[in-house]
Amino acid sequence: MFENSLKFARSLDRQDALASFRKRFLLPSAANGPALYLAGNSLGLQPKATQQYLQAELADWASLGVEGHVHARRPWLYYHKFSKKALAALVGAQANEVVAMNQLTVNLHLLLVSFYRPSARRFKIITEAGAFSSDQYAFESHLKYRGIDPALALIELAPRAGEYTLRTADILHAIREHADQLALVILGGVQYYTGQFFDIPRITAAAHQAGAYAGFDLAHAVGNVPLALHRDDVDFAVWCSYKYLNAGPGAIAGAFVHNRHASAPLPRFAGWWGHHEGERFQMKKGFKPQPGIDGWQLSNVPIFQSAALLASLELFQEAGMKNLRQKSVRLTGFLEFLLNQADPEGKHYTVITPEDPGQRGCQLSILMKRQGKKTFNDITRAGVIADWREPDVIRVAPVPLYNTFEEVFRFVTLLSDSLY
Ligand SMILES: *Cc1c(COP(=O)(O)O)cnc(C)c1O
Repeated sequence: MFENSLKFARSLDRQDALASFRKRFLLPSAANGPALYLAGNSLGLQPKATQQYLQAELADWASLGVEGHVHARRPWLYYHKFSKKALAALVGAQANEVVAMNQLTVNLHLLLVSFYRPSARRFKIITEAGAFSSDQYAFESHLKYRGIDPALALIELAPRAGEYTLRTADILHAIREHADQLALVILGGVQYYTGQFFDIPRITAAAHQAGAYAGFDLAHAVGNVPLALHRDDVDFAVWCSYKYLNAGPGAIAGAFVHNRHASAPLPRFAGWWGHHEGERFQMKKGFKPQPGIDGWQLSNVPIFQSAALLASLELFQEAGMKNLRQKSVRLTGFLEFLLNQADPEGKHYTVITPEDPGQRGCQLSILMKRQGKKTFNDITRAGVIADWREPDVIRVAPVPLYNTFEEVFRFVTLLSDSLY
């Protein structure tokens, strides 16, 4: 279905209905011309529209001062509402189940307060071994804060010997095994190191059957893979917006809580922006949460960060996640095909990301068997911007919004040039 040639790559680009979106981003340059940017899983590129969105808020601040809360073109008082529709579409949620707020690790802490409420009998957390460091620290600190020994309570699932990713059956088995003492299952949506896309509906169903909550860190999933958090009955989720969502360095993050939890308000750490909207400015004693995820907000909305998020979400709405996913499967499939052709016997590297497109997003993680760092430095000098993860993995993410089939072809050519 693929051919190993530049001509073929270019023909795929000509057939690509989403090709014009690339022109709506600012592309970084390398020493010898435009960079070959494959690091959208670390920091997404800047949409050209971001400047205008930020300029509009600077201008409204300049001309209106505090009145901008009500009279800005997008009134600041309600700013968190403007991203809801697009975010809901991206994660498969209802509008009152999602909000842009804080940053990822902050949101993780806030939702652990609500969804990790250990008892003497139920106190265990199941997660993946080698989770992103910030997540590990969040889990560990919550346990220690409550006087629970992480060595007893934190169950970290590792792949079988000789394998790189987790089998769904093994995850489900572990959930059943710990069912009596299990409080929470929390995994990445897409694992940041291996690129494995976990089976969210089956893991969630198993967690619920065990009497536990299910939460997901969607840092590498949102804007990358199709999600249906509401339908899948996920209890809560968090994500950042500077990776696939292109909202800029340190962008405002997002959070989801299922409406199932709307009727009886969960305990939480509160702030005035989460207070019932109609009474927020009465400044009265006694916290009454706004229904839905909005009731977890703490502070008034950071307008510049939120403006940058809107600029990017506009592109996702236009392109459509379904179309993006379709291109993504092809683009990453092409990358995988070329990588296999360049090292057919697996002498130089192994791709540790699952082969099944349904179990991965756009990222492939290439485990280098020898001289990995040298190869990485070679391709970097040649203009590739990718991502090196100690001890031996190169992560590359062809992003369907702005990467091309030709770039994928050129990347594998440069990689081969370094190896042979
Ligand atoms: C990128 C990433 C983070 C980063 O956390 P911040 O709070 O945004 O700095 C955390 N967890 C995972 C899984 C990530 O991929």
